[in-house]
Amino acid sequence: MITRFAPSPTGPLHLGHAYAALVAWERTGSGTFLLRIEDIDRARARPEWEAQIGEDLRWLGLHWPEPVMRQSDRMDAYRAALDRLWEMGLLYRCTCRRRDIEAALSAPQEGVPLHGPDGLIYPGTCRETGRPAPGEPRPADAVLRLDMARAVALTGPVRFVETGAGPEGETGEITLTPGAITAATGDVILARRDMGTSYHLSVVVDDAAQGITEVTRGRDLFGATQIHVVLQKLLSLPVPQYHHHRLIRDQNGKRLAKRDDARALSLYRAEGVSPDEVRGMIGL
Ligand code: GLU
Ligand code: ZN
Repeated sequence: MITRFAPSPTGPLHLGHAYAALVAWERTGSGTFLLRIEDIDRARARPEWEAQIGEDLRWLGLHWPEPVMRQSDRMDAYRAALDRLWEMGLLYRCTCRRRDIEAALSAPQEGVPLHGPDGLIYPGTCRETGRPAPGEPRPADAVLRLDMARAVALTGPVRFVETGAGPEGETGEITLTPGAITAATGDVILARRDMGTSYHLSVVVDDAAQGITEVTRGRDLFGATQIHVVLQKLLSLPVPQYHHHRLIRDQNGKRLAKRDDARALSLYRAEGVSPDEVRGMIGL
């Protein structure tokens, strides 16, 4: 198996990251564990955090081939993927601000979900007005959304294999119909104005480029996987298998976030806690 741990260098690694990294490591078997630095959010990513991620993971006993893939070096690959989707007529420009989207959603329809993997499901305000004129080149500095209904009309139902479980216990062979995908995700953003890419686009392009055979990550990202499989199909990329794992929570049952610096691995390390004791704390 080729697995990866893909942290964003925007803060210290905490127990939740240690768990995610160790799950990827253990699922690798006799294959290869890769580290990928997800630093497309240039405003928040810091080289100091990246250096500390390497130190923390080595302290846990993990190793990986160097040099590591860094998403900030991969903009050409993301541009090429966006160009392809643009030429397929699947992207449109969105000029909505957050409050425009909230206002458009203020009269929710019954039975239609309000939230998707990225928060509020986009109501499609710019879908017609934001479509490119024939032959129009792709704007480099615009917010671009995927027209999901058009996308899934091309892909048809999508399938992936889940070797862990989603939040509702979803496991095994998962099949999603075009209608279910469109309703659950809406027209997600594939290019942010300030980044020129997005989490969804970058993760799909990079998992393929690194030959990842099993994507391991927290259960909170299960809902994003359908978006990723649609993109893999549209871009003719292989569909890896997925392993969504449990989330590490604090004593109050709240999942750990970046700001939970009190549980930073580096602090445990400084206090003399051993890697084995860290494993014990996260139930490994
Ligand atoms: N960079 C993402 C995170 O920090 C990883 C997402 C993924 O594994 O697909 O949560
Ligand atoms: Zn819009």
